[in-house]
Amino acid sequence: MNVRDSELAAGLLEKEGYRLTGNPAEADLVLVNTCTVREKAEQKAHSFIGRVGKFKAKRPGLILGVMGCLAQQWGREFFKRSPYIDFVCGTHALDRIPDMAREVRAGKKHPADTAFRDYPASLAVHSPPHPGEIASYVNIMQGCDNFCAYCIVPYVRGRERSRPSDDIIDEVDRLAEAGVKEVTLLGQNVNSYGTGLEEDINFPLLLKRLGAVQGIERIRFTTSHPKDISEALMDAFLEIDSLCGYLHLPFQAGSNRVLKRMNRGYTAEEYLGKINGLRSRVPSLGLSTDIIVGFPGESGEDFQKTIDLIEKVRFDNAFSFKYSDRPGTAAAGYDGKVDEIEKSRRLTYLQKLQAGYTLEKNKALEGTVQEVLVEGPSKGGFPNVTGRTRGNKVVNFQGDAALFGKTVLVKITHGFAHSLRGEMVQGGDVESCS
Ligand code: SAH
Ligand code: SF4
Repeated sequence: MNVRDSELAAGLLEKEGYRLTGNPAEADLVLVNTCTVREKAEQKAHSFIGRVGKFKAKRPGLILGVMGCLAQQWGREFFKRSPYIDFVCGTHALDRIPDMAREVRAGKKHPADTAFRDYPASLAVHSPPHPGEIASYVNIMQGCDNFCAYCIVPYVRGRERSRPSDDIIDEVDRLAEAGVKEVTLLGQNVNSYGTGLEEDINFPLLLKRLGAVQGIERIRFTTSHPKDISEALMDAFLEIDSLCGYLHLPFQAGSNRVLKRMNRGYTAEEYLGKINGLRSRVPSLGLSTDIIVGFPGESGEDFQKTIDLIEKVRFDNAFSFKYSDRPGTAAAGYDGKVDEIEKSRRLTYLQKLQAGYTLEKNKALEGTVQEVLVEGPSKGGFPNVTGRTRGNKVVNFQGDAALFGKTVLVKITHGFAHSLRGEMVQGGDVESCS
């Protein structure tokens, strides 16, 4: 979501005459997009801003703006902490960035906008696709009403708001016209899309409408909340050709006691029931998840239940984090805080286990033929190109720029820890491909 917001901000500034540069010495404006979901992300943002501040001391006239969740959380306090910041733009005020830059240029001191609006600007603002863009993000909603006990998102992104479906279809139509082949729909909790809109719509219906957009070959979405995965959404994987067989479904913890304290609204058994429902429809479904270890009160036994769930599901990939206290959240006031050393021990154990499963899953694809949408040169450059399978695995293989934006069949020769390697095949059946 932050990546998309950065793109939208860059698009607005481009309209204002700014151009992106990879060379900080050339920049007239540095805009730092910040995250505050864990303390580590917050520290990273502060230290980056500090470094830009030092650079700014040598370059008077350089404008430094801060946007995103940390900007929302800190508001005008940011100017006290970091006096070299020129403007602060909250999560609902993205459209004001060009105004604020203009105000600073005209001599105004410290403009800031952290007001919550009924309809946040990141849903209202459109930005044109970049030339040659193959895969794009599209915001379909913003904010969250779930208030998971550990999470700061509802406080810094505000209440959940959905974007009218016609507006989303318009944007996706324009992306398709510009040659985009894949869209990833973004929201904190996409499964509850449509709540509060006047039209008769929900997430599976939106997917159906998007499935009919000419030129869009692949649709993905993130993030899903297990409690809101409906039978209709499960069926959508069978009914909509362009919907890729991949799902990111955070489970956070395997112990029902911990899930309850987290206010997640489901049990481990219910989570497994959803996974079974999905896999009975799409056996090859790619699955990833988010997990928190060391939530306040998590005992060794509770943690073992998280491990048991990982062993039962065998995810393709997992993003796992040590619990981090966030100011103002319910869990920040919970007792039973787990010490850092124990959290690290649990995290290391879990990540090692998951790395084994990820490798096993990648190796299991060796010998299969996969549909790969080619997105660009691979990290090492030509003669290799890179793309993803429908199950969201990165594949590198020999090819040239003529393949960009094309979907080709690739025989997987090697499964590695983070990617696959393969060889393009001419024709042939697609196996293990949802
Ligand atoms: N809306 C998404 C993701 C929100 S933040 C969802 O509902 O799943 C991304 C991930 O960060 C979460 O899934 C969670 O695993 C992790 N996270 C959020 N707050 C955290 C905290 N206080 N400490 C550690 N991890 C956290
Ligand atoms: Fe945070 Fe929970 Fe909302 Fe996700 S669903 S953004 S974890 S409060």
